[in-house]
Amino acid sequence: MFKPALQDGHNRRVSYVRISVTDRCNLRCSYCSAPSFSSNHREQILSYEEIVRLVRVLVTLGVDKVRLTGGEPLVRRHIDTLVARIKAVDGINDISLTTNGVLLEKLADPLWDAGLRRINISLDTLDRKKFKEITGCDYFDRVRDGIEAALAVGFSPVKVNVVVMRGVNDDELLDFAALTMKYPLHVRFIEYMPIGVLSTWSGDKVVTEEEMLERISLGIGSLESVVAESSGPARLYRLSEAPGRIGVIAAMSNHFCATCNRIRVTADGRLRPCLLSDTEFDLKKVLRTGGDFFGIAEIVRKAVAAKSAEHDMACNAERKCTRMMSTIGG
Ligand code: SAM
Repeated sequence: MFKPALQDGHNRRVSYVRISVTDRCNLRCSYCSAPSFSSNHREQILSYEEIVRLVRVLVTLGVDKVRLTGGEPLVRRHIDTLVARIKAVDGINDISLTTNGVLLEKLADPLWDAGLRRINISLDTLDRKKFKEITGCDYFDRVRDGIEAALAVGFSPVKVNVVVMRGVNDDELLDFAALTMKYPLHVRFIEYMPIGVLSTWSGDKVVTEEEMLERISLGIGSLESVVAESSGPARLYRLSEAPGRIGVIAAMSNHFCATCNRIRVTADGRLRPCLLSDTEFDLKKVLRTGGDFFGIAEIVRKAVAAKSAEHDMACNAERKCTRMMSTIGG
């Protein structure tokens, strides 16, 4: 089938969409959710029918990769059915999901049966007490059980995402890195980004890729560079003989905007050309007012054309985008 590529104004092809299926979350991480959290009413968020309709249009425009996120995607009922429906769209080559893992032990099997094969699990600490401090909830054991379930069911790779925050969890870099010696996990360290006016972000809390790699090499052993099997923002490394991988996503100190191939859809149906920009386009309106293929495609094209060459938030800019991450979709 002829696919008109979605090309932005900076020669980048957009082929990847991250869709937030809910802005609700069962954790309250201070850097990600607002302290008093009012989630959108059910009718304000996109229905599964609307999401699938949108995916069909995006596929026709050249998108072949979808990630489901949130909020917490596993709190949305029957999420496995959405996975199966998106997977069945002709032209989708890759579907993955990002979760905090709290509900994963029970849902790993149904998600696998729905056709999901790749999963990212967010976990910022290996310390039960600190987990409660960061997330406001005593669910460390559930997340650990969720990661174990994902490995047992056969997801591959299972990626563990760690947002590294100075003074909060940077003392655990070596413990997380050591996990890759024991398990076939991809532990991915993410530089802390200035997202959400209410978040506790400040430039001095960002631990850069350079510092992370130096601390890991000095603390555990040298890291060999690994060529990633799929394109993505993480640079990959391996400790000698380790079954797992260490990834670093240096969104702040060494950003990868030049190769950005993605757009984001928020749970309330806004299309965001860039995670770190407040610019959004209203998709829900066109989806709900009988918009046909061309109406939806026009909004998508406008959003892609609005992608800026790069985000403008350097480590010490002390500037944040407005929405909290939980309402954008990470
Ligand atoms: N609830 C799911 C989860 O926890 O993975 C999906 C949504 S969550 C918003 C997605 C990811 O965004 C998580 O790994 C979270 O740690 C990350 N995140 C949130 N705020 C961030 C920030 N300011 N900088 C970097 N990553 C952030």
